[in-house]
Amino acid sequence: MSVQLANALAIEENKLLACVHCGLCLEACPTYVHTGDENDSPRGRIYLMRAVEERRLELSSLSFTRHIDRCLGCRACESACPSGVQYGQLLEAARADIAGGGRREGLTGRMSHFILRHLWLHPSRLRLAFAAARLTREAGVPGLLLKTKLARFISPRLEFALALLDSSSAAKLNRNRARVKASDKNPTSRNRTTTPPAVRNGDDLNLAGEKRHAALFTGCVMEGLFARVNRATERVLAANNCPVDTPRGQVCCGALHAHAGDLDGARQLARRNIDTFADNTAPIITNAGGCGAMLASYSHLLAHDEQYAARAEAFSERIRDVSQQLGATRVRAGAEIESARTTYDASCHLLHGQRANEAPLEMLRAVAGLEFAPLTDSDVCCGGAGVYNLLEPEMSSRVLGEKLAHIKETGAEILATGNPGCHMQIGAGARLAGLRLRVCHPVELLDESYCRAGFYDEARDA
Ligand code: SF4
Ligand code: SF4
Repeated sequence: MSVQLANALAIEENKLLACVHCGLCLEACPTYVHTGDENDSPRGRIYLMRAVEERRLELSSLSFTRHIDRCLGCRACESACPSGVQYGQLLEAARADIAGGGRREGLTGRMSHFILRHLWLHPSRLRLAFAAARLTREAGVPGLLLKTKLARFISPRLEFALALLDSSSAAKLNRNRARVKASDKNPTSRNRTTTPPAVRNGDDLNLAGEKRHAALFTGCVMEGLFARVNRATERVLAANNCPVDTPRGQVCCGALHAHAGDLDGARQLARRNIDTFADNTAPIITNAGGCGAMLASYSHLLAHDEQYAARAEAFSERIRDVSQQLGATRVRAGAEIESARTTYDASCHLLHGQRANEAPLEMLRAVAGLEFAPLTDSDVCCGGAGVYNLLEPEMSSRVLGEKLAHIKETGAEILATGNPGCHMQIGAGARLAGLRLRVCHPVELLDESYCRAGFYDEARDA
């Protein structure tokens, strides 16, 4: 019998009991702040989970599923909790039980389930889907449908989905930047070993000593829609004496499956990734907060798998965000870029899942002369949360509205964030709200800065 069918919440009983109901997490919870309903708070949800686990509340009752559905899974409550309650794992268990209980979902929920099962678990189909999405994006279809308001006329949800896709396009970060190399736009890292760009000799300390070899986890959305960020990550790491390989056969991290309660799907993907990265023990680098937190949780996901438990534990210990890998030594400083005022929004899973608080900011500090404007509540969720923005559009747009208001206050024209979901959510929201904002990954700014400094023998714009 799978763990899912054996009642995932019952397995996590000790974690449920760790909550002492102190309420110190309440104000950190975006859904509680917006609704004021205790059942939309971490404490209230844990209470509901206990009620289900102790059979005092029906698993299928709306008073349970509604509040579990409405949780963003941002894990801000984990950072706020003095008792160390691992809320993210409890949420996954609750969702697995709900999914295992055969709940009847709405159309969007059923479509999401179908896509996760029949597309996301099949790498070749997924690559085709992303190729089609890129073609659509680069042909300007989303932009046209948004501009003519046709998408809004058909459905506001379609309009938002198109805005998400449109906002994944590359932003112009440096006023002097010339063309982007074709290899930055088209995914090429599938099944290949990266030859890092040669780095010119410099006087930076990071260039002394032995190279720190690592492996890059490219991610499905990152490689499908943000291949330029993966290439920038490779170049920046190489320029910091850390050349990366991209192992063949890696697949999606499984975060979308785990968050949707499909733990069996997540485990299938986890086993494949563990096998793929088994060649050595080098650090595994990610540049997507959501993927990084998921990969780091394989040890928990496969804890009851006799064959994989120990390997999953070793795998999870190797996970580092690119900012953490760079921050392990001093990040090499780049040259000044002629850019606009920039702010930073923390990816929830990078911050609360991987505890990368300062490291991404250190990357931005290495960009000489960057005009940086701090963002109020940069540690609060943007409302993207995987596919939450499509499944729970009302709460998502309330959370996003607050984020956009804070961004506007900074006067920034560029926003850096370390997760593709946040990138698209904020980019889409800004576009639909008429806010002039370019969104990028922090590593893209550092890459621009290194390019400007002449750190790469092969300039990208050649
Ligand atoms: S994960 Fe986020 S939305 Fe869910 S209970 Fe915790 S703080 Fe609230
Ligand atoms: S989750 Fe943590 S902070 Fe929140 S009520 Fe429980 S013990 Fe307190």
